[in-house]
Amino acid sequence: MTELAYINGKILPIKDAVVSIEDRGYQFGDAVYEFIASYDGKMFWLEAHLDRLIRSMSELSFPVISRSFLKDEIYRLYDKADISRAGIYIQISRGIAKRNHAFGNKMVPQLVMTIRPVSEVSPALKENGVKVITMEDFRWGRCDIKTVQLLPNVLAKQKAVKAGVYDTIFISREKIVREASSSNLFAVIGNKIFTHPLTRHILEGITRKVIFEICGRLNYEIEERFFDLDLLYGAKEVFLSGTVTEILPVIKIDDKFVGKGQPGPKARAIFKALRACTKDS
Ligand code: PMP
Repeated sequence: MTELAYINGKILPIKDAVVSIEDRGYQFGDAVYEFIASYDGKMFWLEAHLDRLIRSMSELSFPVISRSFLKDEIYRLYDKADISRAGIYIQISRGIAKRNHAFGNKMVPQLVMTIRPVSEVSPALKENGVKVITMEDFRWGRCDIKTVQLLPNVLAKQKAVKAGVYDTIFISREKIVREASSSNLFAVIGNKIFTHPLTRHILEGITRKVIFEICGRLNYEIEERFFDLDLLYGAKEVFLSGTVTEILPVIKIDDKFVGKGQPGPKARAIFKALRACTKDS
């Protein structure tokens, strides 16, 4: 088991991996990324992560990198590191060039990766749930593209840490509930599970996709619809979803308890089902 880095075909120790100061990812945030986790030596929903990565590049008019090349390189790093519960970070920048906002058509995308054991969310938080706060969504208008421009997300998470809670939920100016700083959000309202529709204002989480599948199997009614902060405050259950987050119940939002202030049955059942399907991904 070895933590490793990858830069354009070369695999090396993370501490020795350096990139050019003129990489556009570094100077402009002109880069996209993915984070994939493995369970028991198997990458979870790799194909869906590849779909999203390729879509992100295409939306930003990056030169095309073939899917099979990406997959082979991810596997090469993964096999070499031999970490059973790994977190694989993959970043592709548009390229390296003299600093200039506009980009030409001779860009050579830079592929970098790291692999290490996943930093798990503590089992106590998964079991007991977390508190969150809310703030206005001040991100750009293309949150559906997974770019490394994460400063608003960073500041939102830091605000939560400073407030002694787990995370911050982004709320639009019209009070629509979007998502958390690095996870999607679901709310049980009445007997239905609601989550924000796929628009440019949220990321289409891979875990979100898995949840739709699981809800089908569990016969839970799930609906993509807009809902506001007042409905969120009144929800029976709220939970977050993400590759590292998995399913994380929310028990308090701002100064209001969710339901009875304890994780609810739907979040628990979906988490159990998620863990079960990591075995056959
Ligand atoms: N929304 C945002 C803003 C995120 O950063 C993430 C994590 N990448 C997610 C949602 C959840 O996505 P996934 O389930 O693919 O990890």
